[in-house]
Parts: sequence; C-alpha cells; structure tokens
Amino acid sequence: MSRKSSISGAADLQRRQWLKVAGASVAAGGLALGAARAKADAAPAAGNDSDVLDVAIVGAGLAGLTAARDLRYAGCESVVVLEARDRVGGRTLNYDVGGGFVTEVGGQWIGPGQTAVADLARELEVGTFPSYYAGKTVILGGDGRAEIDLEGTFGTDEAVAAKLSRLSRDVPSGAPWTSPKVGELDRLSVGDWLATQGIKAEDRMGWNASISLSGGVAPAKMGLLHFLSMINSADCDYAQLDSIKHSAQETRFVGGSQILSIRMAQQLGDKVRLSSPVRRIVGWDRDVVMLETDRGTVRAKKVVMALHPALCHQVQFDPPLPEKRHALQRAWPAHSPARKTAMVYRRPFWRDKGLNGHIFQTDGPVFWAYDNSPPGGEIGVINAFVRNALVPSDPQAAKQMHMDLYAQAWGDEARAPVSYHDRDWGLADPWTLTCVSAIPPGFWSAHGEALRAPCGNLIWSGTETANIWAGYMDGAVRSGHQSALQALNALRHV
Ligand SMILES: Cc1cc2nc3c(=O)[nH]c(=O)nc-3n(C[C@H](O)[C@H](O)[C@H](O)COP(=O)(O)OP(=O)(O)OC[C@H]3O[C@@H](n4cnc5c(N)ncnc54)[C@H](O)[C@@H]3O)c2cc1C
Repeated sequence: MSRKSSISGAADLQRRQWLKVAGASVAAGGLALGAARAKADAAPAAGNDSDVLDVAIVGAGLAGLTAARDLRYAGCESVVVLEARDRVGGRTLNYDVGGGFVTEVGGQWIGPGQTAVADLARELEVGTFPSYYAGKTVILGGDGRAEIDLEGTFGTDEAVAAKLSRLSRDVPSGAPWTSPKVGELDRLSVGDWLATQGIKAEDRMGWNASISLSGGVAPAKMGLLHFLSMINSADCDYAQLDSIKHSAQETRFVGGSQILSIRMAQQLGDKVRLSSPVRRIVGWDRDVVMLETDRGTVRAKKVVMALHPALCHQVQFDPPLPEKRHALQRAWPAHSPARKTAMVYRRPFWRDKGLNGHIFQTDGPVFWAYDNSPPGGEIGVINAFVRNALVPSDPQAAKQMHMDLYAQAWGDEARAPVSYHDRDWGLADPWTLTCVSAIPPGFWSAHGEALRAPCGNLIWSGTETANIWAGYMDGAVRSGHQSALQALNALRHV
C-alpha cells in the first residue's frame, strides 16, 4: 500500500507536525522526549500497514534500541530493529552467577558526565550503586606482593595526568581531526608521548593498566590525538576517565548493564527481530532501501546503522559505499575484542582482611582484577581483564591459573570458588570485533571526515559516532538519540 493511501487527512497533518518538532529539536540539539512521550499515545501509527517501513535499524545494542525507542516516542511506529544475535545488548552482557545475581562480562561502569545513560537508567527504573574499592589493592609482580591503598585511583602520576588534561582542551571529543593541533598530535602514539615525560619505571604499570583499560591496547598502539579526545569527553580531566572514584568506573547498574537493553527490548516487543544478521544492503541511494537478512528481506526508507564501523564493513553494500566511507570501515581497528573472566565465591572474604579485591599484575596474565560483587556483598565476585595470550585457552587450566593468582593475593580461601566464567569476545561470535576502539596515530587525519557523513539513506550510529563519550555506553545512548532525530528529520523530506 502506498504511503499516501496509508496516512491521510488529519492523521498525516498530526504526524508532519511531529516531524517538524523533531526537526526543530535537531537544530536545538535535543529532542524534548518528555513532551514527545506525553503526546506519543495520541500520535498515529505511521505507515505500519505498508511493507516499506519508515526506518530499519541494524543492531540491537544500546544505540539501536535507544533510537527505536525515541522513534516510537515521536509517533513513528513503522520501525524495526534487526539484530544478528539471539539476544539484545551487544557489547553489554550479563552472566547469571546464581542466587538471582549477575556479573557483567562486557561494558559495565558509568561515571560523572555520562548523563545520557544515567537518564536512560532512571527512565527504565534501573538502579545504580557504587563500585567497591574501599581497602587495599594488591600489586603482584613475579613472586613479589605488595598492598597499597590507591583510594580509588589507578596510581598514575598527577603531574603527567594534568598535562594530558591541558592538552585535551584542544581536541574536540566528537571530531578530533578538527583540532588546531591535529598535525602535531596525530603523529604520535600515547606511548611515544609518555616516553618524553620522564616517567619512572615503577610508575609505568599504572599508565599501562590505565590506558589498556580505557583504550583496549597498550600505550604504544593508541593514538595520542584519539586518547586526548577521550579525555576531552571526561570534562578535560584525566582523573575522570581513568580512576574509579569520581571517574568513569565509579557506578554500576543493579541487575547488570545488559538490563538496560533487555528492558528497552521488552518495551519494543516484536519490533526487535533477533537472529537476523543483515548481510547485504541494496539501493541505499534510492527511495526504498532493501536489507537482506538471514530471515528475509526488509524494505525501508531510512536505515540507521547502529553498529561498530568494522562490523559495517562485514555488510555488503550495493552499490558500493563512497570510497571515503569504505576506507574508514576497512581501516577501523578490529582486533582488540577483550577477554574478561569472573570468579564467584560464597562471600567477598577479602574484605574481612582490609583488601578491596583489586589486583594489578605488572607482568602476568591478569592486568586488573576487581571486586564485582552485588550491591550488598551477598556473594563475592571477582572480575578480571586478562592478557589473552598469557591465559590458557582450556577453561579448566584458566580457572586453575586464576585460583593460584588470587591465592597469592588473598590467601588459600581463594582456592574454593563456587564457579568460574570466561568470555573471550574475540572467539564468542563474529558480532563484536573490538570492545573499545583503539584508534592508532594518523587514523583521524585520514578518515575522520567520513565518520558521520550520511550516505544516501544510511544514517551512521553506534557509540563510535557519538559527539561525547564515544566508545562508552553513554556514547551509544547519545548516538541512538542523535540518529533517531536524523531519521525523523530526513523523513520530513520524504
Ligand atoms: C569487555 C568490554 C568492557 C567494556 N567496558 C565498558 C564500561 O565499563 N563502560 C562503558 O561505558 N563501556 C564499556 N564498554 C563499551 C560498551 O559496551 C559499548 O560502547 C556499548 O555497549 C556499544 O553499544 P552500541 O549499541 O554502540 O554497539 P554494540 O553494543 O556493539 O551493538 C551493535 C549490535 O549490532 C549487532 N550486529 C553486528 N553486525 C550486525 C549485522 N550485520 N546485522 C545485524 N546486527 C548486527 C551486534 O550483534 C550488536 O548487538 C566495554 C565493552 C566491552 C566489550
């Protein structure tokens, strides 16, 4: 049925008024969701009796689901979310550790300034609680062991951190390639820059751990310009990015971070289609775009690509994408998928000894282990980011290795866990190629302009496209809001 016959008279007028409001909001920098929600019930179903949808969204992570939710609040019911996996949440994933508790093996923390994801949690009635760090951290190096109270920091040098914070003021978070210092800064890796700062050997560990956590790679592989754009997101304050206290690792979600996506998907009902990987997108330059999935073809006027640029590269486009966009996708680093483990104990016994359950290992397989127990400490959970190459691939051997290490840190009680979980994102499936983007030197100068430039009816979304907190859950939510606005605005012209 044609659009003209499906929407008529007053209903059409009402819908166009909505799109106009949305368009005005694009200019104003935000959609008045509260107001939109108040009127959403009154808005007509748009085109849902046609086989050509208004909007198809690829990816049911935080970005895609947020976009779908916003579209519905704005009265656009003619929308579908196509997800490759048989679950929602993308790079957020809860492990059920029994007794009604979960631990996260993907994205999990939020912190100051990450207001978009915090607002989403409030709307979805998902509670938050502080990360646990009271007590001493254990540092392990070879056979050596030390206890130190880091007070919620990663122990990086304050003077060097202050220099990075100052430099970040010149590097806009959402468009680092527009920095007036791009030529100077995009030539260097963070490792190159740190090497000129006279950092003592013993302080190196803190920097390596901090940068590996924020960027997913060692400092030598992380572009300085990109890293500064991340600090710029954190209010130009390095401490807000790399610590726990007053920082991006400060707060957790009750029920685990994946609960945000699960609740959004429940609200969206059959608009979310699981196990539907999009393999080919045909006619993105025409009025009706065809998306070929393993479960049939979907036709839509606008397509929101709510997935990582390297994953976009796995989709076949016909006609081929413009060369600049194609080059960006091809060059996007896709090899730091991360492996995260979880050891579950009956109780967080380390807390009785004045220890906070955190371990930094200078040279071994675990670069950071931390207390990820539920809010009331009802059971003890230790999550760890590991150096994949140093951890046995056999789960039993990996479990034994973790137990030995935790016993070295906290004593023999660590040898009696209830269970052990292991998630290697690189091996699990083809739908997460990298956890956070380790952008190398020179990348933004070469490819930045193509990051968000729309191609025909394709709208680029996903955390990597966010103007602030790109790479984080907050960036994913922001990019979802932004792409919904873009889609609504573009539909006004259809
Ligand atoms: C180990 C790890 C730790 C992290 N820690 C944190 C943290 O503590 N705090 C934080 O803020 N962030 C963290 N992150 C990053 C955070 O999880 C992501 O930024 C965020 O979840 C990205 O959301 P997204 O919707 O943009 O993308 P994704 O979550 O990647 O969603 C994209 C979706 O697209 C689907 N998809 C892919 N290809 C196709 C296709 N062809 N067809 C259909 N569907 C497709 C995928 O299955 C996926 O569901 C972490 C990530 C990992 C992996």
